[in-house]
Amino acid sequence: MLTVNAIAAPSATEPLVRTTVERRDLGPKDILIEIRYAGICHSDIHTVRGEWGEVPYPLTVGHEIVGVVAETGAEVTRFDKGARVGVGCMVNSCRECENCQAGQEQYCLAGNTGTYAAVDRDGTITQGGYSTHVVVDEDFVLRVPESIPYEKAAPLLCAGITTYSPLAHWNAGPGKKVAVVGLGGLGHMAVKIAAAMGAEVTVLSQTLSKKDDGLAFGAQDYYATSDPATFEALANRFDLIVNTVSAPIDMAAHLGLLRLGGTLVSVGAPPEPLPVQVFSLFNNRRSFAGSSIGSIAETQEMLDFCAEQGIAPEIELIGADEVNEAYERVLKSDVRYRFVIDIDTLRA
Ligand SMILES: [Zn+2]
Ligand SMILES: [Zn+2]
Repeated sequence: MLTVNAIAAPSATEPLVRTTVERRDLGPKDILIEIRYAGICHSDIHTVRGEWGEVPYPLTVGHEIVGVVAETGAEVTRFDKGARVGVGCMVNSCRECENCQAGQEQYCLAGNTGTYAAVDRDGTITQGGYSTHVVVDEDFVLRVPESIPYEKAAPLLCAGITTYSPLAHWNAGPGKKVAVVGLGGLGHMAVKIAAAMGAEVTVLSQTLSKKDDGLAFGAQDYYATSDPATFEALANRFDLIVNTVSAPIDMAAHLGLLRLGGTLVSVGAPPEPLPVQVFSLFNNRRSFAGSSIGSIAETQEMLDFCAEQGIAPEIELIGADEVNEAYERVLKSDVRYRFVIDIDTLRA
């Protein structure tokens, strides 16, 4: 076992504190990663505060991880010491079910093993990336292209793939009109990726306060959802709406913006149900869908796509002792657009 520095939540109601976590000895297929940067995802906050169900404490979260391969197990073939690597939201799956066999291990029927707060295949509880090192099976490790700056690569591992996967699945591209609801950590990546795919992108945000940013990220249009005229102006317009907001939205109003055969896909997760009037789906034969991260192969495809297109998240770099303050700012949407922890500040 390796004992490494980390930041953890002692309980649902206390601030995160500096502590240590144990990492398992390297198995034959395992990689020891020296973590350099870890992004702060809204899910981290929901999870440590017990808002998505009970979790074991103390808990170290973080599933937007980039670092360097420090050591490899005897049977590791895909990575060498010193390689730039990333780890996202999952670190294992059953590998045998229909979905794993289809290369869609994020939808593992036995449940994929989350990077934190999950029971690992060996029975231990997984601990996430707000720490100096992590041990992960090579099959769940990504290659981070050299052209993406390290610290900016971190948020791609959750925010990037969570938005790339539905955009790719529903064929965002030339000739397609895509709306992105919410311009936060996920939303700003959805805009950049959809625009890079060639789609015509519109941002739907509560207010116009981030309009200049949205247009700079590649959106053609930007509308305020607080203005009822928006829903008249944009009726029956979009092929795809990517909803990144993790609070309830007016479903009938947003579904009314879909053209024939259009889909509204939610990637933000409000804890409460979203009521849907079935009549708003009948019109234009609309669909309401969900999407969860992406497979490991698709995550690699997304990283390579972002490298080729020269796109990366907008980040604010912080030290290990600023995480609690950062959490409060995330909850107030006071970040443009993702906090990333400089893990070097945890080494001392
Ligand atoms: Zn996340
Ligand atoms: Zn499976």
